Amino acid sequence: MPLKQMLKVLFITPEITPLLKTGGLADVSAALPAALREHKADVRVLLPGYPRVMDCLKDKRLLTILADTGVHGEVRLLEAALPGSGVPLLVIDYPLFYERDGGPYIDHNGHDWVDNAQRFALLSKVGAILGGSESPLAWRPDIVQCNDWQSGLTPAYLHFSPEPRAATVMTIHNMAFQGTFPASLVTPLGLPASSYSINGVEYYGQLSFLKAGLYYANHITTVSPTYAEEIQQEPLGFGMQGLLAHRHQDLTGIVNGIDGHEWNPATDKLLTHNYSADDLTGKAASKRALQHKLGLTENPDIPLLGVISRLTHQKGLDLLPAIAPFLLEYPVQIVILGSGEAGLEEAFLHLAQSRPDQVAAVIGFNEALSHQIEAGADIFLMPSRFEPCGLNQMYSQCYGTPPIVHATGGLVDTVVDATPENISNGTATGFIFTQATTHGLNECIHRALKAFSDQPTWRKIQSNGMRRDFSWNRSAEEYLALYESIFKSD
Ligand code: ADP
Repeated sequence: MPLKQMLKVLFITPEITPLLKTGGLADVSAALPAALREHKADVRVLLPGYPRVMDCLKDKRLLTILADTGVHGEVRLLEAALPGSGVPLLVIDYPLFYERDGGPYIDHNGHDWVDNAQRFALLSKVGAILGGSESPLAWRPDIVQCNDWQSGLTPAYLHFSPEPRAATVMTIHNMAFQGTFPASLVTPLGLPASSYSINGVEYYGQLSFLKAGLYYANHITTVSPTYAEEIQQEPLGFGMQGLLAHRHQDLTGIVNGIDGHEWNPATDKLLTHNYSADDLTGKAASKRALQHKLGLTENPDIPLLGVISRLTHQKGLDLLPAIAPFLLEYPVQIVILGSGEAGLEEAFLHLAQSRPDQVAAVIGFNEALSHQIEAGADIFLMPSRFEPCGLNQMYSQCYGTPPIVHATGGLVDTVVDATPENISNGTATGFIFTQATTHGLNECIHRALKAFSDQPTWRKIQSNGMRRDFSWNRSAEEYLALYESIFKSD
C-alpha cells in the first residue's frame, strides 16, 4: 500500500562520487539516493565539507548554523546539489576538521588523522541533530541511514535524544573497518557514560563507532544477503559476529546495483566496438582489439581470461600464479589489470614476461582498459576470499563474459552456477567454486573452459547473464520497502 506522504530519508556518508571517492561506498552514496528519489522518496545526503567538496559545489548556500554540536565554535550547514543527478546535499562546513590536504581519513603519510574520532563524531552528531526533535530545519527525516563506522555514532546519539526522532538504519559496506578509539573519548564525544558497556559502544576495552551503530540502530543492512549471513560468524564478523547474530532479525542484505549508463556494452564509449545480447559481433571484435593491444596471439578461438582487481589477499588472486604454469599448457590467454601487493604484482609481471603471447599484466588503475577487458575477455576471474558485494562480477555478466567466482558474499548472490540443471532451465550465468584453494580454482577454470568449447551452451550462459537486471532501481525498491516497514513499525 503506498504511504500517504513521501518518505523522507537522511543519508549520511563520508564520501560521494564524483566529489570524493576512496572506495565503493562513494558510488553507492551517489547512486542509491538518486535511485530512491526516482521512486519518489525525498532523500538528502549529509557529508563533510572537505576542500574538494567545497570547491566542486559552486551553488552552495548557507542553510543554518548549528550551535550545540559539541565542538568549539559554530558549525555551518550548507545546502547544494550533487553534480550530475542533482541529489540535494547537506554539507558540514567546519574548516577546523575538514579543510585540510590529504585524504578524508588519512594524511599524506598514510597515517589516520589523529582527530578522526572528533571529525566523524561531528558528522554523526549533525546527523542525529537533523534526525531529532531539536532540528532547526523544517525538513524532518523519517529515516536516517548511516553508512560504515564514520556515521556509526548517529544511532547512539539519537537513542539518547528526546522523542520524536527518526528511525535509524546502519549499513555495513565492509566489516573490516570499525572506527575504534580510546574509551576515554566516550564522555568528550557527548555519549553518556552508561553507554560504555558491552550493551552499548564498548568493544574490547575501546569505543567502537561501528559497534555503536550496530547496537543502537533500529535496523542493520549490508550489501548482500550472503554477506549478511557470513558476518554473523567468524572470521567475517571481525569480532562483532555475536552482536550481529543476536540481532539477526533486524539484519537485511540488499545487493548493490551497477551504473547502467557507464556499464552497458551497447553504449559504452570506452569500447572499440559496441554490442548487445542479440548481436555479439562487437564482442568478437572487442576480443581481437584487446589481443592486438596487449600483444597476445590474435586468435578468436583461444579462451581469454580477464582479471580487474585490487591485488590483495582478500581478492584471492595469489591462487592464480600458482596454477598458471599448468593452465598455460592449454591454449588459454590471461589478462590482468590491477595493483596492490608487491609480491603479486611481480608474480603477474613475471608470468607475462615468460609467456608474452599468452599473458598480459598491466599494473595500475586504468578505467578505459577495465571496460575493454570486460568486453574483450571470454571469462572473468574473481576468486575473492570474501566479497561484501562486488561489482566486477555484475559488469562481466552484462558484458557477456561469464565470471568464475568463489562462493562468498555478493558473488554467490549475483552469479548462478552453470550446473547441468541451471544450464537446462536457462538460469546459469557463471561458475562458482566452494573452496578458495588452488585446486578449487583450477577445477572451476577447467569446468568453464569445457563449457566454452561447447559454443551453443556458452552462448546461452552469456545471454542469461546479459539479460539480468543489476540496476539500482531493483536495489532502491528493496531499500524503500525496508524503510517503509521500519517506519510503520516504529
Ligand atoms: P572492491 O571495491 O573491493 O575493490 P569491486 O569489484 O566491488 O571491488 O569494485 C572494484 C571497482 O574498481 C570496479 O569498478 C573495478 O572495475 C574497478 N577497478 C579495480 N581495479 C582497477 C584497475 N586497476 N583499473 C581500473 N579499474 C579498476
